[in-house]
Amino acid sequence: MDSKSIRQKFLDFFKERGHHIVPSAPIVNKNDPTLMFTNAGMNQFKDIFLGNQPAKYKRIADTQKCLRVSGKHNDLEEVGIDTYHHTMFEMLGNWSFGDYFKEEAIKWSWELLTVEYKLPKERIYATVFGGDKGENLEPDNESLELWLKYLPKERILYGSKKDNFWEMGDQGPCGPCTEIHIDLRTEEEIKKVPGRDRVNNDDPRVVEIWNNVFIQYNRKADKSLEPLPEKHVDTGMGFERLVMAIQAKTSNYDTDVFQPMIKFIGDACGKTYGKDLKTDIAMRVLSDHIRAISFTIADGQLPGNAKAGYVIRRILRRAVRYGYTFLGFKEPFLNKMVPVLANQFAEVFPELKAQQDFVQKVVLEEEISFLRTLEIGLKKLEQIRTNIEQSKGEKVIDGKTVFELYDTFGFPVDLTALIAREYGLEIDETGFEKEMAVQKERSKKDAVKETTDWVLVRDEEGVEFVGYDHLHAKSKIVKYRKVTAKGKDQYQVVLDTTPFYAESGGQAGDTGVLQSGKEKIQVLDTKKENDLIIHIIDKLPLDVKADFEANVDEKKRLLTENNHSATHLLHAALRDVLGTHVAQKGSLVNEKVLRFDFSHFSKMTPEEIEKVEKIVNAKIRENIQLNERRNVPINEAKSLGAMALFGEKYGEFVRVITFDPSYSVELCGGTHVSATGKIGLFKIVSESSVAAGVRRIEAITADEAENFVDSQLSIIEKLKEVLKNPKDILKAVEELSAEKTKLQKQIEEYVSKEGQGIKEELLKKVETVDGINVVISRVDLSSADALKQLAYDVKAKVDNLFLVLAAKIEDKPQIAVMISENLVADKKLHAGNLVKELAKEIQGGGGGQPFFATAGGKDLAGLDKVLVKAKGVLKEKV
Ligand code: ATP
Ligand code: MG
Repeated sequence: MDSKSIRQKFLDFFKERGHHIVPSAPIVNKNDPTLMFTNAGMNQFKDIFLGNQPAKYKRIADTQKCLRVSGKHNDLEEVGIDTYHHTMFEMLGNWSFGDYFKEEAIKWSWELLTVEYKLPKERIYATVFGGDKGENLEPDNESLELWLKYLPKERILYGSKKDNFWEMGDQGPCGPCTEIHIDLRTEEEIKKVPGRDRVNNDDPRVVEIWNNVFIQYNRKADKSLEPLPEKHVDTGMGFERLVMAIQAKTSNYDTDVFQPMIKFIGDACGKTYGKDLKTDIAMRVLSDHIRAISFTIADGQLPGNAKAGYVIRRILRRAVRYGYTFLGFKEPFLNKMVPVLANQFAEVFPELKAQQDFVQKVVLEEEISFLRTLEIGLKKLEQIRTNIEQSKGEKVIDGKTVFELYDTFGFPVDLTALIAREYGLEIDETGFEKEMAVQKERSKKDAVKETTDWVLVRDEEGVEFVGYDHLHAKSKIVKYRKVTAKGKDQYQVVLDTTPFYAESGGQAGDTGVLQSGKEKIQVLDTKKENDLIIHIIDKLPLDVKADFEANVDEKKRLLTENNHSATHLLHAALRDVLGTHVAQKGSLVNEKVLRFDFSHFSKMTPEEIEKVEKIVNAKIRENIQLNERRNVPINEAKSLGAMALFGEKYGEFVRVITFDPSYSVELCGGTHVSATGKIGLFKIVSESSVAAGVRRIEAITADEAENFVDSQLSIIEKLKEVLKNPKDILKAVEELSAEKTKLQKQIEEYVSKEGQGIKEELLKKVETVDGINVVISRVDLSSADALKQLAYDVKAKVDNLFLVLAAKIEDKPQIAVMISENLVADKKLHAGNLVKELAKEIQGGGGGQPFFATAGGKDLAGLDKVLVKAKGVLKEKV
């Protein structure tokens, strides 16, 4: 069975059993502060498990793009080295939300694997939770009994809390799980060591393929467990491992999921997979990493220097280095894999194909930039290895060096650690962390956020957002909790009804006031955690049970709406002027400014910018009425040509914002002006690059735009005054500038003539003392440059020169000393030292080289003394 049919069969199987099939959520996680990337199928249903949202469907199944290279799940070190852990992988999953439980879940797992996929029954093992004394938890005998229907006792194993009790995080829903493992070894090996001894033992051929989690508890902040009223099933099966088992391979990379890419790599570097371990690992790494890189970029996460962006950069650099060292790719290669991957996944995850050029360009730029420093960095590491070997010292690369590699050569610390391991060395990670801490001066303590459990004030089912229609509402607090960060206490509250818009889709969260009687509580910000609207306040109201007036800061909201609607008009205008490849890559909208990032490959010309501005302002003047439609079925919205964002998770029903159906139709959850005329004026203030292939426009509207234009005009007014009100100021300034250039030239000529005259004078005054040609003289010049020039000019004409010039320059005293090189050597003369001595006479200081030095000072009257002193010194020395 090929991988495509295997995936389809999974979805069909659960569809037939009443499951609703949903698309994969984006791999980049935007609405969850605790998670950068999706790392399990259940992430997108977290709100349902947490009870924040009712489940629309009781049964769901899907295939989910997952990434496990950061946080609680980090498999990066294994990837490529072993044959069954990937950075990005697909997790097939089925869910029951308060519907079926252990019995059906186990039965269907068995049926799907053995009947549909025809996996050999005698090779299958199950693990069940063996209980935990510390937690006061009994073994999961319910699952054990259920498994006994299908498996003999010796192929069911009890597992520890570590393997068989699944938790989402430090807090939240959790429960026992049962894992399904498969033994893919040969008959002979099985005869020698039974499979049950290899389960959960890091044997690449006895691997876990499916985990069925039975969520029945909630882990509270004080670490205690509380039983949940509704019990859920949450399963995850590694697609690539499943394909390996069904296709009877012993490595995920031998399946048709990876073979096309491995072949592509092999053809490009002229090596064959399966001949040499090092080359194989490198091919595996490249074929794996390109998936993580491409899908995250397509979902909107660009490589960068911090957080999620740095995760992507680390993966990418790891791949570049494997290709460089083991496959001989000295030129950018990864980007060439993007189209191959896009085609392979065109049907399952079309978002990559749709943005193929963009993704390829981003990868290429990243490769070029890392390849610039990779070679020197590798040489440096090679040197360190030799040094350590020769000195027979500790086999550790110190923290400072690791940091230097990171800081100067762009080596992510895990890459350095990896290369070190290949060399049989270790790295001093603590030392590295110290260096990092010094550089960032960041205190780790500050970053830690402590969150208490929610305190329930009233039992309220859903939370209603009324902020599209109202800026004021009567609200009650549903629950609240305390959050402590950087030593400051704040409270988060959830309201039953709220007009406050929570920050999302680039639009800033509302601020305002919660009022009850005389008491006013400031709402500092409104954020979303998954889909829960959270109001951030600095203190709790005296009576949390009171009725509140929730009032949004109106002015701020309206200004923000101007900018949000203007962003839509801008987006459409950009597609008009630059082309339909323009796709939103990021946006920020608040009451002051709008910032819009979009894919486009070159700097916009002034003409293009002007054109875009003109279109947007014309659309504003047309005063187009807002057409806002809520709960539009997603397919209908798409057929209207609505622009959806890549990497956004959309439900089945969406909100569509239209300003003229032939101009701007977007899926959007933000708030907007009722008609475009309200925006007033639109002005682009900057256009710049933010990353490879991504441009950024910053613009302002309404009052801000008026103020901007006014201040520009007032500069012009002032300029006119300064220029004495010419008819044409531009011409006047140009003339002024031309005049300046002309005068400068004249001054230069004058200075050079002046120097010429004085030089002639000096040459006449040369005295010879003991074979030394001496010039010690007062001169008046107009600049320090002229003095220097004069000294060099005299030197060019006179050998054996000892020259001291005491000059008045713009009413300040200056000294120049020039001594021919042979005198410096023979007579132990030193212009730098001499000028220091002479400068005392003019209350100044200076210095320079042995043959030429200068000094400046304060006392003009001292210039004559300089001459006397210089003559004295000369006498002493000769
Ligand atoms: P393992 O112990 O093998 O790392 P896990 O216990 O971390 O697996 P789960 O968190 O239970 O795995 O995830 C469910 C399923 O997802 C696993 O049974 C496995 O098939 C698959 N899986 C987990 N991690 C990876 C990975 N890095 N690459 C590919 N598949 C994976
Ligand atoms: Mg794991």
